[in-house]
Amino acid sequence: MERVATTFRDDLERVGRWIDEYFAYPERFRVLPAVRPGEVIAALPESAPEAGESFDRIMDDFERIVVPATTHWNHPRFFAYFATSAAPAAIAAEALAATIDVKAMLWRTSPAATELEQVTMRWLAQLMGLPDGWTGIIYDTASVAGFTAMAAAREALDLGIRERGMSGRDVPALRIYITDQTHSHIEKAAIALGVGQANVVRVPCDAEFRMRPDALASRIRSDVAAGMRPMAIVATAGTTSTTSTDPVREIARIAREHRAWLHVDAAYAGVAAIVPEFRWLLDGIECADSLAVNPHKWMFVPMDCSALYLKDEASVRRAFRLTPEFILTGGENDVVNYMEYGIQLGRRFRALKLWFVLRSLGAEGIRAKLRQHIALAQEFASWVRGEPGWEVLAPHPLSAVCFRSTSVDNERLMEAVNDTGEIFISHTKIDGVYALRLAIGNLRTQREDVEAAWSVLRREAAKLEHAVV
Ligand SMILES: *Cc1c(COP(=O)(O)O)cnc(C)c1O
Repeated sequence: MERVATTFRDDLERVGRWIDEYFAYPERFRVLPAVRPGEVIAALPESAPEAGESFDRIMDDFERIVVPATTHWNHPRFFAYFATSAAPAAIAAEALAATIDVKAMLWRTSPAATELEQVTMRWLAQLMGLPDGWTGIIYDTASVAGFTAMAAAREALDLGIRERGMSGRDVPALRIYITDQTHSHIEKAAIALGVGQANVVRVPCDAEFRMRPDALASRIRSDVAAGMRPMAIVATAGTTSTTSTDPVREIARIAREHRAWLHVDAAYAGVAAIVPEFRWLLDGIECADSLAVNPHKWMFVPMDCSALYLKDEASVRRAFRLTPEFILTGGENDVVNYMEYGIQLGRRFRALKLWFVLRSLGAEGIRAKLRQHIALAQEFASWVRGEPGWEVLAPHPLSAVCFRSTSVDNERLMEAVNDTGEIFISHTKIDGVYALRLAIGNLRTQREDVEAAWSVLRREAAKLEHAVV
């Protein structure tokens, strides 16, 4: 029997109830779903319905088909990659943003979205202690923020590439310097910008996975001697694998000497600079040209919301400004038109959810959560260290820990642990060694969740150890 929803408000009430219960009873959900490839496709019709269906029927299928095949990133026992989460206020803000559905490309098309973006970016900059005068712009992801910074870096070379391109003319090889710990999006940016993968140079790291400034300097010197042109250096504050942080201040000195752009990728860890004792994460940032920080990663804003901060915002406009005549508006010369800051025209109203989160948690609430996550990670590491047959594999200053069992195959252990559905962890390679990785970052993760993870890990390791082979 099909119940016909009578009003939009009834529909929203059902959604609201579902969301409330989702957060109240996470234990009903496997963190990693037990689903095989193609199962969702097989459960759905071949074609879109000809006649409209009731909201209740659609919601029923959401609960029946979508939810069981979902990897629950919002689950307090999600410890894989970087754990993220959505604050309730931000979920409501997303519904409101979809309701007004503005396209935030020009000030005129979205005065509130434009100015709220300016204000929230300034608030966040202040909280992280960024230098005065830096400008923040919201993109969907750190990958796009990084791409945009690399496009600005290319234009800053003054080689006329925007106008004349790179082919059929004399342009030196442009070089981007990273490490083997740098996130892969920089390589993608090099591909998309015509720099080429072969011109992305991996500078060696020290024993704690930080870029070695001496190695960077000598690599650049030999490239310059060979007629190449240093375009950008990418330093990371909080690498994806071990959360190591490159020495930005020393790297900046080398960048300045060679007039190369310095981008700091702090997609995960940057927001921790809101906590005074973790301000060091952005030490030297005033010497950089750009910084990427993801509120959608560790600041309880749902996907997607990534901030790119620029020392000189005009650098990005130099790369991308291309205002078509039909869209020009008279008399609005002092306003920000965000379409000039990237490849997108229409943009989502992402500042709204950031504003809701900053206000509903407050700086104090955010600090308390970040401190709690970092403390839980330190506690987890101490359990691993204190247990025979286990070891910690890298320094863990923040909220992720790399570790392994020394008595069983760690790849099989990870599979066994994730197959339980009780927790979800991921892995990395450290100096070629397979490492398990536990990341804490969910608003709702408590000590008991981390204890549960540790007990599942030990239980599954013991099972593997005693299994008949
Ligand atoms: C997660 C992460 C990224 C990628 O972030 P997206 O917003 O998903 O593009 C880039 N760099 C670092 C250091 C990260 O941790």
